[in-house]
Amino acid sequence: MATSILCFVFSGMGAGKTMDLLRIAYNCNEQGIKPWLLTSSVDNRHGIGRITSRSGFQQDARPIDQSDNIYNLFVDENSKEQIDVVLVDEAMFLSNEQVWQLAKIVDDLGISVTCFGLRSDFQGNLFEGSAALMAIADEIKTIDTRCRCGEKAIMNARIKDEKIVREGAQVQIGGNESYKAMCRKCWGMPC
Ligand SMILES: [Zn+2]
Repeated sequence: MATSILCFVFSGMGAGKTMDLLRIAYNCNEQGIKPWLLTSSVDNRHGIGRITSRSGFQQDARPIDQSDNIYNLFVDENSKEQIDVVLVDEAMFLSNEQVWQLAKIVDDLGISVTCFGLRSDFQGNLFEGSAALMAIADEIKTIDTRCRCGEKAIMNARIKDEKIVREGAQVQIGGNESYKAMCRKCWGMPC
């Protein structure tokens, strides 16, 4: 029996994380492996409970807010239909506690969990969910993203009126800001 693991796949904005998640979900379904898809209810631009990639592919997912106990939700869902793997999109928005709930699904129930998300916010700080995943995931992977200059893009810049924004709330959705993955040098030092 394969060992079950908690895996964190991070990348910059626009690297195709969601596409990767949907591809895995599709492959699972093809092979008769039942995935359970979760996404954050924070980002509801495409409607709550739906995972949508930039290229337009989408799939329904269980929306999670920070008050949900994911372990309990899993047990409940699994009693209706047996789940084989868990795939989480927008994992940076998980709470520290919820990452531990995912770890419990792996450790106590032997189900692998793969989380996709950003590592750091527009100010270069770890998100809560990403910090917990960086700390306790069995495997950490990154999807290569390139900056406009060709260097590896590891930062996420918030752009408004073609300028990098440095101040504001960590999560700001629905405004006219956009996000761009950049290398550390192009993103600029905050000091
Ligand atoms: Zn650059």
